[in-house]
Amino acid sequence: MEDMADPVPGIDYPRTFEEFDRFFPDEDACRRYLTRVRWRAGFSCRGCGCGDSPWVTARGYLHCRKCERETSITAGTVFERTRSPLKTWFLVMWLVTSQKHGASALGLQRVLGLSRYDTAWTWLHKLRRAMVRPGRERLSGRVEVDETYVGGTKVGGKRGRGAEKKEIVAIAVEIHSPKGFGRVRMRRVLDVSGESLVPFVCDLVQAGSEILTDGWRGYNALGDHGYTRTKTVLSDTADPAHVAMPGVHRIAALLKRWLLGTHQGGVSAKHLDDYLDEYTFRFNRRSSRARGLLFHRLMEQAATTGPTRYRDLVGGNHNG
Ligand SMILES: [Zn+2]
Repeated sequence: MEDMADPVPGIDYPRTFEEFDRFFPDEDACRRYLTRVRWRAGFSCRGCGCGDSPWVTARGYLHCRKCERETSITAGTVFERTRSPLKTWFLVMWLVTSQKHGASALGLQRVLGLSRYDTAWTWLHKLRRAMVRPGRERLSGRVEVDETYVGGTKVGGKRGRGAEKKEIVAIAVEIHSPKGFGRVRMRRVLDVSGESLVPFVCDLVQAGSEILTDGWRGYNALGDHGYTRTKTVLSDTADPAHVAMPGVHRIAALLKRWLLGTHQGGVSAKHLDDYLDEYTFRFNRRSSRARGLLFHRLMEQAATTGPTRYRDLVGGNHNG
């Protein structure tokens, strides 16, 4: 629901781990695959413009048969200047995308037998940076928007007291009729003021959409930005178990379970956005029957996402 083109299972991507093994027996196979994904429309040499298929050198370059110019296969991708084999990267991507809840750094360290936790952590974060597709469309139609609190020691609480040590995550989800959800977007916000919440909606939801919210005043200005706001005020309903925003409520519950379960709650505030991106990537592709398709989508985005410097990852510089 989030992507265009139609890759062919078993040909464009492996469907099972057995196929994965057959797809990627060595570095050369990995380079060819990355080349195919990166230059989907066919490679053309930037030196002479010729479209003849280049040969792949042992050092990982495409060598133009006509003008001899060499083009790095990994430069400008997540794998740029990596010291690890592509095959290891691909395996990590397979583990992240083939498991329903993804992979944790600790789990990855164990499976790959890495001596350092940091290595696994860095790989996962680099891949998370590739999970947001540049230029993705904004949500549209009927969209529920609400905030939730993540992390900290206190549970529950909405807007205000008890929330001091928690991070606030704004969530928007498309509501389908008669039931079901479409795509989701989420982002950490500093507070629940209109200055934080309205830009969240403007950045991620198309103007003209109907925004469903509760009665919170932070959303009052939405009308000035071309949205129709439909308010549901919780205190108007007699049922104490009623939730005003069932879509957001459900997603927030799943998100928290994932953070606590897969990642043992060990997510610091400055890295929270990266985890939200991974969660969103998986949620918005939940209807992909073949897990291998998710691997392919991540590969497509990894092939077009520049590398993130380690210090930006550690510092939590999300847009770095
Ligand atoms: Zn050339």
